[in-house]
Amino acid sequence: MNILIFGPNGSGKGTQGSLAKDKFNVAHIESGAIFREHIGQGTELGKKAKAYIDRGDLVPDEVTIPMVLQTLKEKGKNGWLLDGFPRNIVQAEKLWEALRKEGLKLNYVIEISLDRETAKNRIMGRRLCVNDPNHPNNIYIEAIKPDGDKCRICGGDLKTRADDQDEEAINKRHDIYYDTESGTLAAAHFFKDLAAKGETRYIELDGSGDIQSIKETLLARLA
Ligand code: AMP
Repeated sequence: MNILIFGPNGSGKGTQGSLAKDKFNVAHIESGAIFREHIGQGTELGKKAKAYIDRGDLVPDEVTIPMVLQTLKEKGKNGWLLDGFPRNIVQAEKLWEALRKEGLKLNYVIEISLDRETAKNRIMGRRLCVNDPNHPNNIYIEAIKPDGDKCRICGGDLKTRADDQDEEAINKRHDIYYDTESGTLAAAHFFKDLAAKGETRYIELDGSGDIQSIKETLLARLA
């Protein structure tokens, strides 16, 4: 089972992705995490990628594409959920070419749609409980609004994550994501066109709903 997942930062892609990954027991391959691992280990690739990542730019295709295709071969023998790749149209074409060459199927492509304004608010509205970062608090999401300025679960103090408040960095990432000409949405639509030809199945989820109902819709569509 091979799956791609698309969704802007702030759409709940991580949550829905782990649901799909657990359902099929496949490897979760996340391009951003592979880069972070390389940076942590101080590899040549990590050194090359770091400056781009720090600026919020895409790492060049010459570095990213071979790295991801190699990881799919090494870690994805029993299926994969690929997250964070492809991020542009060239990456999409190269991935499709590689899959065809290997005779591999792309079973599902999931796209979580969410308008840009809501996605940005969700990121900037995130609050972290000092007692437990898994206590969900977001000043812009009604269902998990903090209790005044305290954690809605335990009453603990709340803080923000520095990168969640960096509006320029969020905008830059969203510029790439919402670009339907050559960016990430262009990559997603490349697969939507393939789905129309019966080459894969495309699942569109409305990311503006609550997490539980999105989960249920996804599970029903993956059945
Ligand atoms: P992420 O954790 O997915 O937000 O990725 C963190 C950073 O890694 C991104 O801002 C990019 O600089 C880089 N990156 C991750 N995936 C890709 C990709 N498919 N193409 C180019 N750069 C990427």
